[in-house]
Amino acid sequence: MLAGAMLGGMRIHHACAIVWLAVVPASVEAQTKALHFAAVVDGTGRVIPNGVVIVDGDKITRVLTARDALPAGAQLTDLTRYTAIPGMIDVHTHMTYYWDPTSGTDPWRQPQRPPEQTVQLAKANALKTLESGVTTVRDLGASNYTDIALRDSINKAGWIGPRMFVAGSGLQRARPPFRPNTDTTRTARGRVYNISQIPDAVKQQVDAGADYIKMYGSTGSGADVTGNETFTFEEMKAAVDAAHQYGKRIAIHSYGPDGGRDAVRAGANTLEHAIDLDDATLADMVKRGAFYVPTIDHNRYYAEYAKDFHYTPEQVAALDSFRLRNFETARRAFKAGVKLGMGSDAVFHMFGQNTRELGWFVKLGMTPAQALATATTNGAAILGAEQSLGAIAPGYFADIVAVEGNPLTDIDVVLHNVKWVMKGGVVVVTPKQ
Ligand SMILES: [Zn+2]
Repeated sequence: MLAGAMLGGMRIHHACAIVWLAVVPASVEAQTKALHFAAVVDGTGRVIPNGVVIVDGDKITRVLTARDALPAGAQLTDLTRYTAIPGMIDVHTHMTYYWDPTSGTDPWRQPQRPPEQTVQLAKANALKTLESGVTTVRDLGASNYTDIALRDSINKAGWIGPRMFVAGSGLQRARPPFRPNTDTTRTARGRVYNISQIPDAVKQQVDAGADYIKMYGSTGSGADVTGNETFTFEEMKAAVDAAHQYGKRIAIHSYGPDGGRDAVRAGANTLEHAIDLDDATLADMVKRGAFYVPTIDHNRYYAEYAKDFHYTPEQVAALDSFRLRNFETARRAFKAGVKLGMGSDAVFHMFGQNTRELGWFVKLGMTPAQALATATTNGAAILGAEQSLGAIAPGYFADIVAVEGNPLTDIDVVLHNVKWVMKGGVVVVTPKQ
């Protein structure tokens, strides 16, 4: 209504009608859509056979059945070969980590490239992520704020990609040797030289436009599965308090149990990766409502692609044994009632495999519906977006994935049979002809 009135006003007062003609296709796009599925798995536990999802603009307005009358003028799309599930949420990605195999190096040793180029190259990761049925990511760490640039290009410049919640530079302890002329009296690029700089390091990310704060609370990355704690409880607490003071949530990375325990005690909203968590820590997570994002599958990925990374057989063995302990910890956590999130920790050529984590979740004892919930309702809760993401229901973003088969009896349907994806009312993936 308001937009129309303003549009009319512009037409009257200005002769530049040609500029406003560009608005017309947008209003055609705004036509009500009716998406007819074999069934709608709505993400709240309901299954609606013969469900018809009504989409206006970027939102879902109603969920009907084929027996109900369609809204007048709605454009009907026949998706009755498929079952609809909510667009999934991957709560741990590194979308800007792009590998160019023609660089002649392994992914970790690529030549430096300008940040602008990194953002452009990351488009490919964004597309592969959508193709896996993931329409929202929490991106946990990037350099030079390329994550913020990618998020904003998707939101404001029409780039095709998942909606992104980003962390900017993850906070990490700076350790000598430092680069020449490094000013250790102040934090920069997430590097923290002493505890007093932690609130500043958090504020720098918030000021740059981060949605979430990330802290690396232990060693461990790639083939390094050491997990030695790098920030103390007091330092983690300083980061948590600063994040919460600025209205942001915080994810703390720890491969090992000590960092995991301290991260939870310090009040981290989510704990990433950690293995061998003790029962008291699991109980503490339940009590506090902290989420565990085990990222089991990323070490499967590193081991499987060891050749590309030039990892040795010993490194592969270490990745495999870490993965087993990670799986066992996730199994115990689930049994103890800890809420889990689906995080792939996708980097490089892992994009497109974002949802493989759900296979591990089913293997450790979840039903397919419980596994799917980690990627829908739990993901939304991690982001504080319970009212807009993770369900197919009125008022939610029209983020919808069509899968072939029954996702409630076979999780492989979600992993391998994504056929069609809508994000924010726009169809972004269609079946290959
Ligand atoms: Zn990560």
